[in-house]
Amino acid sequence: MPKTKVSIQRVPSYESEAVRLALLKNLEFLGGLDQIVRPKSRVFVKINHLSPPSPPENMIVTHPIFTKELLILLLDLGCEITVGDDIQSNKEDGFHVSGYRKICAELGVRLVNLKETGFREIACQGQILNKAYISPLVLDSDFLINLPKLKTHSFIAYTGAIKNMYGVIPHGLRCRYHRKYEKSEIFCQMLVDIFSLVPPHLNIMDAIYAMEGEGPSAGSPKKVGLILASFDAIALDSVATKIIGLDPMQIHTTTNAAHRKLGTAQMDEIELLGEKLQDVEIKDFKQSAISVGLIRKNLPSFLHGFIQSQLVLIPRVLPKQCTACKECVDICPTGAAQMLEGKARIDKSGCIHCMCCHEVCRFHAIKLGQRPLGRILRQMTAIYKKILSHFS
Ligand code: SF4
Ligand code: SF4
Repeated sequence: MPKTKVSIQRVPSYESEAVRLALLKNLEFLGGLDQIVRPKSRVFVKINHLSPPSPPENMIVTHPIFTKELLILLLDLGCEITVGDDIQSNKEDGFHVSGYRKICAELGVRLVNLKETGFREIACQGQILNKAYISPLVLDSDFLINLPKLKTHSFIAYTGAIKNMYGVIPHGLRCRYHRKYEKSEIFCQMLVDIFSLVPPHLNIMDAIYAMEGEGPSAGSPKKVGLILASFDAIALDSVATKIIGLDPMQIHTTTNAAHRKLGTAQMDEIELLGEKLQDVEIKDFKQSAISVGLIRKNLPSFLHGFIQSQLVLIPRVLPKQCTACKECVDICPTGAAQMLEGKARIDKSGCIHCMCCHEVCRFHAIKLGQRPLGRILRQMTAIYKKILSHFS
């Protein structure tokens, strides 16, 4: 059986020429863009563009230069392109802050906040969902290109190609699902339900600069210097997680999607093109605190719930930094984030630890804490992983 191809190319920076060459090389390994995308077809390009407005150098969004270079290649094929994501911009234009407004205007490419064109109800025979609301721009495109950013995630450990497709459903529903599916395993099953409805034809990951620590928005930029591409989002996520020191078999989105045969997560079924995995692995990539819980498969099952409860991150408002913008209150799916005496506060008893408030606060006024035992477990895991890597 032919193996699934994942191409890895080095790129030192977001310098346009270097990005273009690396994209071309990746696409060449996969057969060439003109063989992948039908000329003059309608292409939807799904970027990763979180709601709080953030400039590209914060490495929260798929970098606009990376997207721009791909758009130039697609325009050469005469494609009718739409770039989009569903974002919740209140006062500021998030697309302006990230640079997307500018690059799309320069190229004459349509840029859409998906909420502006509405969502279509479709049936879903998923593990969790029996129907879903998806952007018609995505459903009606001839070709779907997924441009995830390589990042850790404070709730599900890792966010990449599978998770990026969550942005094709309405923002309000995403908040509701956070409330409804508060266990990460169940949440990931729901993510794969959505993914299964809109599997991208091509996935190209911006891993030139990734985010480590408490992603997807409050971590730190980390240079990885790579672009990855594959037709198979699951294979691409498996390779990306390996590069940053995570075990793909412990990432729920990856294992669930592979179990449903939406792609492969088995490294021996993946053909790597370009760089070798051992040459691009990042040994000191900082994981999110929750990823410590991923070692629990080695522990007796009766301990899982307890360990998870200790590892969970607890959001806390820093009153001095809080500008009372209320964005955390608006996004909180349970009402645990509230305004009190002109500052946000979080009612711990109602908090389901979805991290939406943390993700949305652009003033860094929400800090994530951990229970003392959780901190110890995290340190012990770091030592455990070091020992394992020493012997592997
Ligand atoms: S905590 Fe952040 S998001 Fe919430 S009101 Fe304060 S500044 Fe706004
Ligand atoms: S307070 Fe924050 S972490 Fe807790 S439920 Fe609300 S949005 Fe989620």
